[in-house]
Amino acid sequence: MQGDNDSLAAFWMPFTANRAWKANPRQLVSASGMHYQSADGRRILDGTAGLWCCNAGHCRPEIADAIAKAAATLDFAPTFQLGHPAPFELAQRLAALMPVGLDRIFFTNSGSESVDTALKIALAVQRAKGQGTRTRLIGRERGYHGVGFGGISVGGIVSNRRTWPGLSGTDHLRHTHDPARNAFTRGFPQHGAELADDLQRLVDLHGAETIAAVIVEPMAGSTGVLVPPVGYLQRLREICDRHGILLIFDEVITAFGRVGGATAAGQWGVTPDIITMAKGLTNAAVPMGAVAVKRELHDAVIESAPGGIELFHGYTYSGHPLACAAGLATLDLYARDGLFDRANDLSPYWEDAAHSLKGRRHVIDIRTIGLVAGIELTPRPGAPTARAMELFHAAFDNGLLLRATGDIIALSPPLIVEKGQIDEMFGMIGTLLDRID
Ligand code: PMP
Repeated sequence: MQGDNDSLAAFWMPFTANRAWKANPRQLVSASGMHYQSADGRRILDGTAGLWCCNAGHCRPEIADAIAKAAATLDFAPTFQLGHPAPFELAQRLAALMPVGLDRIFFTNSGSESVDTALKIALAVQRAKGQGTRTRLIGRERGYHGVGFGGISVGGIVSNRRTWPGLSGTDHLRHTHDPARNAFTRGFPQHGAELADDLQRLVDLHGAETIAAVIVEPMAGSTGVLVPPVGYLQRLREICDRHGILLIFDEVITAFGRVGGATAAGQWGVTPDIITMAKGLTNAAVPMGAVAVKRELHDAVIESAPGGIELFHGYTYSGHPLACAAGLATLDLYARDGLFDRANDLSPYWEDAAHSLKGRRHVIDIRTIGLVAGIELTPRPGAPTARAMELFHAAFDNGLLLRATGDIIALSPPLIVEKGQIDEMFGMIGTLLDRID
């Protein structure tokens, strides 16, 4: 960085090593379909749907047109004590995609806001049901639930937590990553369902009457594609039911076709009480998140405050017209192009391609489900950058966007990906693996 006049200095980049990035900036300037274009004029194949969010591919004209029309018709309208049609329509459409019963929708602007909203709703529900002692929130190690104070408190990533005081009264299940027993698994790992019994252990420790909710990602994405062991989510559901604990699935990554189906919950047959979403909801063209809540839980809160405001919570931009327009156009595209089925249809091909890297230098595990893959590389202690980060840079310079997290490379392409592009992605990763130390 060259000082205050440097054109890159003012933007404090999120989750970025600012000095390193600004010394060697890599920027994207446009996008279309499966590709970005870099500032230096190269086509970059998008292996990560942006940040797990552009599920229908980039710059779809149907979405762009809908946003432009909304911007010219109704740029903004409050949804506090007033309404406009779009969020009602979008909520109804979204409710129809959720597992049966989760048909009340609260709108937010991001995954982090969805998580904090879901946690607050869980506490409000318990209180409305006369269970006000239930204030404890349970998360999981290696969980990522965004960056709000609620999200970092139930999250399980030390670097996201250490600088800030978290909420009191939280606790964590162990994560389910077990490479000793489950390495190179396709789909659900065989071993580890018993880890769900951690919740029973926390009930024994704290008392069920203190626990409001448990939140997990059905598949943890950001911390390296941790697929739940066979039976794990079902077992978590059973323990929640036994003890009156609400189960929240954070589906910010898994919703909207990533693992086949509209939600992982629906696809995998485990119904939580609350689902958080964001990202693919608008194909990321306008920031938006949503929380789907079981009707009976919503009704308990609504009925608890006859005549008054039932939930003292909301955002200026809850149900923003542009976001709703993008959301409606996105849901249309998903339906018209059958994109929620793509992960199921392509998964065998995708998994073959990913697992073909088994045995390559540095590769110690490969995990796949739906249209997601995590490739774990041997750690390189003491080196300035992890191998995964080096691979991320090399791939970008060779025209492929990956995601690096710790020693893991994650891939989650737009659902419009073609087989040839899948070959291109894993072919390039194989070649680059041979080139890094
Ligand atoms: N929850 C999960 C599971 C996520 O993956 C993310 C983002 N990757 C978030 C929450 C936070 O979303 P946002 O960055 O939109 O706040």
